[in-house]
Amino acid sequence: MAPRLELPDTLPVTSRRHDILNQITLPDLSREISAAKTAIQEFITTLLSSSTTFPTDRADEIKEVERAYRDLLRQEAKQKYLSSKLSDLKSEYRHQSSGTPRLDRDNWNSFSQNEHGLVNMGKRWVELQSDSVEIDRKDQWLRVFCALPYIWSDPTRIIPYDPFESEPTQEEDDEEEDVKVDGGIIELTCPVSVKKFEKPMISLKCFHTIDNESLESLFRSERSIQCPVPGCNNSLTPRDFVTDRLMHIRVLISELREQIR
Ligand SMILES: [Zn+2]
Repeated sequence: MAPRLELPDTLPVTSRRHDILNQITLPDLSREISAAKTAIQEFITTLLSSSTTFPTDRADEIKEVERAYRDLLRQEAKQKYLSSKLSDLKSEYRHQSSGTPRLDRDNWNSFSQNEHGLVNMGKRWVELQSDSVEIDRKDQWLRVFCALPYIWSDPTRIIPYDPFESEPTQEEDDEEEDVKVDGGIIELTCPVSVKKFEKPMISLKCFHTIDNESLESLFRSERSIQCPVPGCNNSLTPRDFVTDRLMHIRVLISELREQIR
């Protein structure tokens, strides 16, 4: 009786089969994730217009939504992580295959015993699935969630802890300090145009917020500007700015509250 041939655990991929390797991709969930994020943002906006004070009876529901939002961020980060790892694995597979002879009856045993030291890509891929990923702590909506209880009835209120400005480990220290120091308010107008923010942009260097319209005129002739906020000497380029979602929500709340008054 002929000995039973068992397929080795690891086999090289032949150049003829490279196209099959190329076809292996992760399903792209970015549209679904982005739709779910939008739904969460709309839920919060609707809730903000339903009550002028923080709805304590719905605090659990808001916490739940925040948790769902964090899960989405985690899924998004995982997706990004896995697709980059998948592409690494593919090129590693191609690379190690190129230095390995083709499988035939004569060298079958050498493959069964993995004498070529091939990495088991399938196993590696399974292991990668359970890696944990970090979510972006500077996500704009996480910041909004953090601020909601404070700015709900007073959108100009200073928040005790801004994840943009402080590292999470310093959270408690900062909280105490800020509450004591700050009696001021957050202006909802651009420091340059002195008009209400329409498209607020925050500098990630000094956390000052300037309206996009003002920035466009400031950067029209200069590549780099000095922060227009008095007393701030930071040198800034357009790349230092991102949309200030929290300021956006502050303005939205102030408009909602004005309508009610
Ligand atoms: Zn500044």
